[in-house]
Amino acid sequence: MSLRRPTPRRLALALGTTLAGLAVLVACGGDGIEPADVVLQNGYVYTVDAKDSVAQAVAVRDGRIVYVGTNEGVHAYVNPNRTQVVDLGGRMLMPGLVDGHVHPLEGGAATLKCSLDFLPLTVVQMNQKLQACLDASSDQEPDGWLEVVNWDRQAMSSIDRDPVRQDLDLLTTTRPIIVMSIDHHTRLVNSRALGIAGVTAETPNPPGGSIAHDAHGQPTGIFEDGAADLVDQVVPQPSDEERAGHARIALDLLNRQGVTSFMDAMSDENEVKAFATLGDRGELTARGQFAMLIDPSESADPAAAMARVKAVADRYTKPGDQPAPVVQVRHVKFFLDGVLQAPAQTAGVLAPYNVNIGTDAHPNWVAGSKRGELYFSQAALDALVVEAIKAGFDPHIHAIGDAAVRRALNAYEVARKVLPDSKFRPAIAHVELADPADFGRFQSLGVFPVMSYQWAQQAPYSIEAVKDQLGPQRYAIMEPEGSLMNAGATIAYGSDWPVDPMAYFYNLSVGVLRRGNPNHYASFGPSYAGRLNDDPLLPRDLALRSITMNSATQLKLDSQVGSIENGKYADLIVLDRNFMQVPDDDLAFTQVLLTMVGGKVVWSDGPFAASLPAAKRAGVGRMHLLNARNSARHTD
Ligand SMILES: [Zn+2]
Repeated sequence: MSLRRPTPRRLALALGTTLAGLAVLVACGGDGIEPADVVLQNGYVYTVDAKDSVAQAVAVRDGRIVYVGTNEGVHAYVNPNRTQVVDLGGRMLMPGLVDGHVHPLEGGAATLKCSLDFLPLTVVQMNQKLQACLDASSDQEPDGWLEVVNWDRQAMSSIDRDPVRQDLDLLTTTRPIIVMSIDHHTRLVNSRALGIAGVTAETPNPPGGSIAHDAHGQPTGIFEDGAADLVDQVVPQPSDEERAGHARIALDLLNRQGVTSFMDAMSDENEVKAFATLGDRGELTARGQFAMLIDPSESADPAAAMARVKAVADRYTKPGDQPAPVVQVRHVKFFLDGVLQAPAQTAGVLAPYNVNIGTDAHPNWVAGSKRGELYFSQAALDALVVEAIKAGFDPHIHAIGDAAVRRALNAYEVARKVLPDSKFRPAIAHVELADPADFGRFQSLGVFPVMSYQWAQQAPYSIEAVKDQLGPQRYAIMEPEGSLMNAGATIAYGSDWPVDPMAYFYNLSVGVLRRGNPNHYASFGPSYAGRLNDDPLLPRDLALRSITMNSATQLKLDSQVGSIENGKYADLIVLDRNFMQVPDDDLAFTQVLLTMVGGKVVWSDGPFAASLPAAKRAGVGRMHLLNARNSARHTD
């Protein structure tokens, strides 16, 4: 655990030294300089150092950055017998992306499942797609499960109706079928699956969930929230080797989009093991941090909860003191609430959600009674957070509603008082709604908001399912990254993939513009023009800093990665356009041409594909690249 074994600070020399100064030092070094393995020159090197300096060239040796400066200065590192010189042709080189909140194993697995592609479908249209999936995998008859993802239940209900198991029973198959909604709150199964799960008219609703019934009291095949476990638990789980395959797919997709470090924001041992297995085989192509999920039922014995997590951490965590990527378990995850979107409305809010007591034609929204739910009491959360920090873990709390955000901040305030000398770096993920009175507490308590900018666009999930339900005052401050920025918070970025399609630069563009781009593939389903609300825009430099240096700092990787500075690991990406200079509407279309992790090329394309062939490319099929664009929207 690096909390107890601090990573070496190798950057003292470079930090605070100006690039001009470095160039002079190099020139004085002359022939005594050891040659680099790779020199990247003639570029727009956007360093994300303390001053956001821009340089021309970088030298890499033994997986580390050994020079950042001018084209002239980098000459001293070139030895024709050893050094590969790459002409960037003026392109933008920046630090590799650090995703502060993502679900890579789930995302990798989802690319192999039958996808309804987020489309607004009628029941008949859904069945046409499902039959195509069945026909394409007929070798799975008669008993193989068909797992289906990316079903927009809300859209189907509004354009057609809510489906039932008898609809799925019309398909030409005997296989059990399970369909997952995009918010992951609903499952739809066919009668075969219902039978395997052993669910009958007599099966009681489990805590926190409901089994839908028809007029005759029979299960309709719809399972909501906690009831989903009844069917999930009978779906065969992937083997360890299959999980390693899912991890390999995820890494490949991440590398293609420039991600060089990631935080798996909801881990169990299976997730860690899958990536650790690849690490043992030399196939880990991004630095993996893992937050172990703590269940509310573990509130009774915080010490036991942390002992459970520590056993996993001790089994898999590697030091990370060398440039090659490793797996580390240094975080714990708490779900404090659910989601804002109707009909779930499980996010904890200070004032109740509004309900429409009028008609659709003449709506009349008034305060209702639902306030969502907080899954940990303040006392339980305080105790777990303190115990986690004492055990060396940084807490990562899912909090979406303003009541949940406040409770999470309260817990961190307690921890700062109880453990004043601890250097813990706490995070609150999502923060879709916060009381303005709490904005400043992120800065004063040293809490990192981990934001997903793509949610700050107008879309069905931010308009139909939220806008009137929150009312104008709260809607005006939804997705408050600009307000948090102005209140001094250090904002980190987390994609939450596969909740949304994997599209990092599209997502960053929404942070900068607070609007979507209907022409971009990431704008799945209906999307609307115009800004979400008037919360301040993020400057481009802050958007890039949030997904590099700030996320690295939140994850305590800032001494190793997050910026292009001497001594750091060579996690570098080359873009096809200059994110700092292109017109607004071009930002979303930025492509990554080269990704380097610890000095090794893990993805290369276009002009770099030939000169720097990728060391390894997973067998990526077209299918999963397409599917990766269309993955589920839930909120983990
Ligand atoms: Zn998540």
